[in-house]
Amino acid sequence: MKLFNLSGKVALITGGNGGIGLAMAKAIGEAGASVIIAGRNENKNNESIEFLKGFNIECKSFKVNVVDEVSCKKLINDVVNDFGKLNILVNNAGTNIRKRPEEYELGEWKSIIDTNLISMFTCSKEAYKHFKNISGGKIINIGSMHSLFGAPLGSAYSASKGGVVQLTKSLANTWAQDNIQVNAILPGYIDTELTRQARIDIPQLQKRVEERTPVGRWGVPEDLGGIAVFLSSQGSDFITGTAIPVDGGYSING
Ligand code: NDP
Repeated sequence: MKLFNLSGKVALITGGNGGIGLAMAKAIGEAGASVIIAGRNENKNNESIEFLKGFNIECKSFKVNVVDEVSCKKLINDVVNDFGKLNILVNNAGTNIRKRPEEYELGEWKSIIDTNLISMFTCSKEAYKHFKNISGGKIINIGSMHSLFGAPLGSAYSASKGGVVQLTKSLANTWAQDNIQVNAILPGYIDTELTRQARIDIPQLQKRVEERTPVGRWGVPEDLGGIAVFLSSQGSDFITGTAIPVDGGYSING
């Protein structure tokens, strides 16, 4: 369907070399876009490119450390040099260190804010001038259930993901006149490397999430594919500044 057809578009997914990012990259690529994934780990980058090529997706990877402004700027400029333009930026790279608030070293706490929040600003700011050149663009920021709730062992993660929602609204408000739509996705509990350790640390977590989630299961990365395509596409041109839970109903179950 034309509304959701991404042929001719160029999409960059930070942290696209695994988990949710890779699933979104595959869905966006299958909708027709050229896909660029970017992470620190070059082995994971290369493996992901091989995976995407298996679906006939035009793709390339770049090494980036999103906490480094210079690295983010270089990434966006390399993408535009190689592909001629950038249409879609998915700010997905993220991390967590789970501790009680009083146990964090300040450096650890700040590293989570840098990775999950400040990198979104850096990459979005750099992408803006390229979006302006082609009179529009799409930014998708990955939040969390902890954009809504406070994680007892995640004060930095919750602060960063809460910030993602407000940053999304602010950028959306400013850049609406430039035909740039900025939206956030709030995934529920998804089975990835990030949550695997959490389930080891908190043995009840697996069951607790299943019980609270109306659809009765954990999410899988592929559950995020549809929303990623939608928010990248012409079908969402009048939607901006939103934060959409993709959580099997977790957030509406009191
Ligand atoms: P993964 O650990 O599988 O993916 C995290 C990705 O981020 C990796 O590709 C990693 O690549 C990249 N990354 C981390 N730090 C950096 C950095 N400094 N520079 C560049 N890339 C970086 O976890 P998920 O797929 O679960 O997480 C993806 C996003 O989804 C995150 O923002 C996370 O907070 C969010 N999320 C996840 C949920 C879940 O239940 N899994 C729920 C809600 C939100 P590399 O290691 O190569 O750098």
